[in-house]
Amino acid sequence: MTIPLQCRCGAVQGTLDLDRAYARATCYCKDCRAFARYLGAAEVLDAAGGTDIVPVAPSAVRITDGVEHVACMSLSPKGLLRWYASCCRTPLANTPRESKLPYVGVVAACLDATAPAFDAALGPRGRVAIAAPSATAPVKPTPLAYALAVARIVAGVAGARLRRDRVSPFFDASGRPLRAPHVITREERAALQ
Ligand SMILES: [Zn+2]
Ligand SMILES: [Zn+2]
Repeated sequence: MTIPLQCRCGAVQGTLDLDRAYARATCYCKDCRAFARYLGAAEVLDAAGGTDIVPVAPSAVRITDGVEHVACMSLSPKGLLRWYASCCRTPLANTPRESKLPYVGVVAACLDATAPAFDAALGPRGRVAIAAPSATAPVKPTPLAYALAVARIVAGVAGARLRRDRVSPFFDASGRPLRAPHVITREERAALQ
C-alpha cells in the first residue's frame, strides 16, 4: 500500500510504499535529536526526545514534486546523510553515505502517521525504542520488539540487496547522492546536542 509523503508546506510531494517498509522505530539518540533541532522542528520529537522513523528499501520512496527543495546535511564528516525539505525545514529521511547499503530511514514527520493504515501496517509509534538510554525522559526498554525490528531490518536490507534495490530520490543509479551534504562544525553539533 502506498501512502502520501509530503513536507509541511506541501512543496515537496511524494509517496511511500508501506510494503517495502522494514519496520518502525523511535530513535532517542542525540544525533537524531540534533537534526530535529537543526531544522527548528522540535515538534517532530516525542516527550522523551525521540524521532519516529520508518526504515524502508530505497525504491519505497518516491518524490513527485519539489525535488529542488530537497536538501542534505550531516552532523559530522562521516555521519549519516540527513535529508530535509529546505522550503519549510521538514525532516525527510536519514541514509548511509553510500547507496550500497539499501536503507532509507524515513522520518515519519513527512508522512501521515495518523492514518489507521499506517499503524496497522507498522505498529504504533514508540513500540520499538532505539538508544533508549539517551532519551531525555525515562523510556521503557523494548528488548523483544527491538530484536524483532533489527531482524526485520537485516532481512529487508538483504532482500533489497538481492533485488538491487538501490535507487531512491536521494541517490541516482550510479550511487551518487542527489546533493553534497552541508556538514556542520563540531561546535555547531555540540550546541545542538
Ligand atoms: Zn515544504
Ligand atoms: Zn538516531
